[in-house]
Amino acid sequence: MFDVEAIRAQFPILHRQVNGKPLVYLDNGASAQKPRVVIDAMTQMYEHEYANVHRGLHYLSNVATDHYEGVRGKVARFVNAGSEDDIILNSGTTEGINMVSYGWAAPRLQAGDEIVLSILEHHANIVPWHFLRERQGVVLKWVDCAADGSLDPQAMIDAIGPRTKLVAVTHMSNVLGTLVDVKAICAVARAKGVPVLVDGSQAAVHMAVDVQDIGCDFYAVTGHKLYGPSGSGAIYVHPDRMSEMRPFLGGGDMIRDVTRDAVTYNDAPMKFEAGTPGIVQTVGLGVALDWMMGVGMDNIAAHEAGLRDYAQGRLAGLNWLQVQGNAPGKGAIFSFTLDGPAHAHDISTVLDKKGVAVRAGSHCAMPLMDHLGLTATCRASFAAYNTKAEVDSLIDALDLCHELFS
Ligand code: PLP
Repeated sequence: MFDVEAIRAQFPILHRQVNGKPLVYLDNGASAQKPRVVIDAMTQMYEHEYANVHRGLHYLSNVATDHYEGVRGKVARFVNAGSEDDIILNSGTTEGINMVSYGWAAPRLQAGDEIVLSILEHHANIVPWHFLRERQGVVLKWVDCAADGSLDPQAMIDAIGPRTKLVAVTHMSNVLGTLVDVKAICAVARAKGVPVLVDGSQAAVHMAVDVQDIGCDFYAVTGHKLYGPSGSGAIYVHPDRMSEMRPFLGGGDMIRDVTRDAVTYNDAPMKFEAGTPGIVQTVGLGVALDWMMGVGMDNIAAHEAGLRDYAQGRLAGLNWLQVQGNAPGKGAIFSFTLDGPAHAHDISTVLDKKGVAVRAGSHCAMPLMDHLGLTATCRASFAAYNTKAEVDSLIDALDLCHELFS
């Protein structure tokens, strides 16, 4: 049984006030709040179990290593990878995608080779490919979304040509909430021998993910959106791609042997984890994933679908407000603008005075904003702990904006 009040009780920050009003936290697309178990586990580790990992022969180093290494299996279970060796732990999606760009794509792609991207992408799944365009003459091929924000998988497939070496696509838009049929894209891309990188930063928060069923080559997640700490994350890499990939960062831990003349690398995935990692952050991520799986991904998805439907209905009743994107099956993420002169920043400032936290701006998705003909939107994004009463608080605060700015 999913009991949202019992969920809320586990998040200390949700009980504070902001500007004299109860906090209504609807900026989950940017970063989620943390349950008590994550906060406590990190404090416990710093107070009693902290040391560097992989290096020491002493007691605390072994304890810390066991905790840290245990997270690899948790991530593997969370995304249903075939093996925990398919999981590279890192600081988040940005690092994961840059690792693929530098380590897998850069050595393989020649001038004129193509990467197919959707217009829905976050800058983290754009700029690393622009590096290859700038430095190596790689061509970026963009696929637009439809007017309702949906992305036709066939359009992505049609964009794959003889020079396409990679498809990079989000599983869920952080701006519009569009859920992309990545499985359909992967099935055809794989048949054509083209690997697919899926940015799972948003989707993995809201639904069960199965990378083997999707059939992707890379699937990136970021810890701070998954109710875990910032500076934690992971990327699933298909074993065939793992064996093709060059290390991105060099340093301690990723080597087996170093001499004056040569380096022998560690086995994957350690080969891709140079230097002292975010030890406690990663342990916190493991606790957060246990928490999510304990609540049940299907329960979270069902609760958020209820919030999405309720918010959709209430926002549709405001005829002076435009919601961007209305694709079937979208996540509970709403970007909107108001008629009249008010900028998204003005709206978010008024909402903040009412205790309602939303994001305003271009959401690290400037090509999408350009496609929509906008410079900025407000975005309300929901999580497992949000309630229908909080949707009502958002609507009340928006009514006030309408009064103030019209
Ligand atoms: N991709 C998407 C869809 C996102 O929403 C985000 C974060 O906003 C990222 C990538 C980047 O994640 P991070 O900044 O945690 O690396």
